[in-house]
Amino acid sequence: MGGVLQFEELDGNIGLLTFDIPDQNVNTLSSPVLRELSQHVDDLEQRPDLQGLLLQSGKAGQFIAGADLKELESLAGASAEQVERGVAAGHDLFARISQLPFPTVALIDGACMGGGTELVLALDVRIVSDNPKTRIALPEVNVGLIPGWGGTQRLPRLVGIHHAINMITTGELVAPEKAVSIGLAFDAVAADQLIDEGLRLISQLQGSGDWKQRREQLAQPLGLSEDQWNFTFAVTEGQVMGKTRGQYPAPLMAVRAMKEGINLPLEEGLQVERTIAREIMRSPTAANLIGLFFRKNSVSRDPGINSSEHEPRSVGRVGVLGAGLMGAGIAAAHARRGIAAAMVDIDNDRLAAGISSARHVVESRISIGRATPDDLAEMLGLLSTSVSHQIFSDCDVVIEAVTENEELKTSLYGQLAGVLGDDAILASNTSTISVTRMARAAPNPERFIGMHFFSPVDRMALVEVIRGEQTSEAVVATLVNVARRIGKTPIVVNDCAGFLVNRLLMPYMAEAVLLLTEGADMDDVDTAATRFGMPVGPIALHDMVGIDVACFAGRVMADAWSDRSVETKLLEELVAAGRLGKKSGSGFRKFTGRKGRPASDPEFQQYLERCRVNDADFTMDEITDRLFLTMLLEAVRALEDGIVSGPAHVDMGMILGTGFPAFRGGLMGWCDETGAATIVERASRYAPLGKRFEPSQLLRDMAGSGERFYPRKTSETVFGAEL
Ligand code: NAD
Repeated sequence: MGGVLQFEELDGNIGLLTFDIPDQNVNTLSSPVLRELSQHVDDLEQRPDLQGLLLQSGKAGQFIAGADLKELESLAGASAEQVERGVAAGHDLFARISQLPFPTVALIDGACMGGGTELVLALDVRIVSDNPKTRIALPEVNVGLIPGWGGTQRLPRLVGIHHAINMITTGELVAPEKAVSIGLAFDAVAADQLIDEGLRLISQLQGSGDWKQRREQLAQPLGLSEDQWNFTFAVTEGQVMGKTRGQYPAPLMAVRAMKEGINLPLEEGLQVERTIAREIMRSPTAANLIGLFFRKNSVSRDPGINSSEHEPRSVGRVGVLGAGLMGAGIAAAHARRGIAAAMVDIDNDRLAAGISSARHVVESRISIGRATPDDLAEMLGLLSTSVSHQIFSDCDVVIEAVTENEELKTSLYGQLAGVLGDDAILASNTSTISVTRMARAAPNPERFIGMHFFSPVDRMALVEVIRGEQTSEAVVATLVNVARRIGKTPIVVNDCAGFLVNRLLMPYMAEAVLLLTEGADMDDVDTAATRFGMPVGPIALHDMVGIDVACFAGRVMADAWSDRSVETKLLEELVAAGRLGKKSGSGFRKFTGRKGRPASDPEFQQYLERCRVNDADFTMDEITDRLFLTMLLEAVRALEDGIVSGPAHVDMGMILGTGFPAFRGGLMGWCDETGAATIVERASRYAPLGKRFEPSQLLRDMAGSGERFYPRKTSETVFGAEL
């Protein structure tokens, strides 16, 4: 690459190395960059005359974002030896840096992540800027990796095992103040003081000479007693297993590297880390999570429309019709991000309840230190309420979130016709009703659109932006932009029953109910789903969302996709009996005690018996196949129908909207990992059950050709090692 690292000599015989990749927003550590760094280290090793070295980034507020993930992505297909060479490339270089013949100081202004953090850990001292953007982290576990360039060994020796475990297993972003308090950084100063402070520190280190002892000390075993060691790691492993359910191996492997390495001399500890890093880097989970990282980035930049002709319109004020669960959440989401929001409901009591629930969102954030009383005051200042539609007259966008009733919604659109401004956009938060059909009742069908938020609005990042047949592209672009401004991930979906998420989720939920009627055990059905990686099982999900809600949505889906809908009256029976799920105290299970924990309910059996069609035994694999093949086959049909623009949108929608397991690389990533041919073969076993198990053309073609939704990434070298 060349030209990334500039070396200069400052007064006092002190070197300054500036890292700045031209034409790139952030500095990353790729093969060419590491090679260039290595050449500088060759030179520096021959300069015992230098008094010290400062390392800084040439990008203000951006230090080093970490290793180049594109190179890491290709490791999935590499051999163990090749991966070892890639790992060794960083290890050997950082070891040489840690032994340079003079004190070394990193000047960190901005994000210092992953490999960047491991690089600065190889230096003697770190000084951070007090810039709010400055954060130090080892977030490798978030992409299924462990810090594999010395992080698991150098960090605990520097800050102690507890802080190290916390940073490494959670990927925590450490702010300047904390970095100083835990000993990760020496001091926090203004960004423009970093060089002066670094120079001062070097002359101090040279004066005392204790940097050499400090190096020796940090190369020793950490020296935890057997009791401390046993206790610390037993507790940590238990906590990590509890959080990851064993489905995300990286945090546990990082703990193993610390456990096996920290009571050894540094060099041997680094060897332990290398062996474990080699194992984890080739794991499918790492490849899946790295792949997802790129897909998430591409979806989060997608303008939602194909043409660049349509600029999003500016939106300064939104209206929200209906101040219930969703309306209050939507209004709060806008006001929290500085967009004025006006709420309308049928009476003042409901409006007061809406304001109180908006308030609660920020108050609970204050209680965990994520917001301040000023944030609350600012949000409340941007919220206004009225029982009259007139308050919407100067709104750029009005989002309707009244009760799910088509007649009610469309009659309200008629009333809004005389109130909305000429260019105002009208959006509906409906979860089941056709946007194209409702557009006919809207003041202007081109300016009518769906904006489907998920509950609870403050925590769910996904928004489906539903394009009706007549919705204009400028309107789509505008709502995509608004959703991003309020911190959401918008996905543009062409109108169809269930949109994207419910179109894929409802068949899976219906299959779960059908399995019960065929004899499957309720706990087995939920366990099969959670073992696969879903946050809750589909039967438990019915009880959570409300059986009446699921029944209604299921009916909409069954009407739209009658060729592959499944028949059972079980949900209707439960609704008729008032068993609506958790909200009514019973549904599939009963909810008892103060916390309303679910427990099995013998009374449920009578409803099941009325709908029972079989009494078969099911293996967990069969249950898993039935649940997830229906979901996947529908996803492929949705892609063929052009409902969303690509597989990455399906995956982000399902991960953010339903908690589909990220470690599987999303639904389409799971298909790739399993292989389309295997999916088609497995689906064929269930063909007698109906059309829902019939793979569509695209999947059959992929099974024949071996194509994937996400082509494998290949690279000839990974961090300097030939592949
Ligand atoms: P909700 O019952 O909590 O709120 C509906 C609100 O609409 C109530 O406050 C009601 O007073 C108000 N309303 C009824 N008629 C009105 C009128 N004529 N004028 C003004 N306000 C009126 O319901 P919700 O759960 O907030 O759902 C609202 C919409 O959001 C529905 O379309 C629903 O399908 C959709 N949605 C709900 C969820 C969810 O999980 N609850 C998720 C996504 C989308």
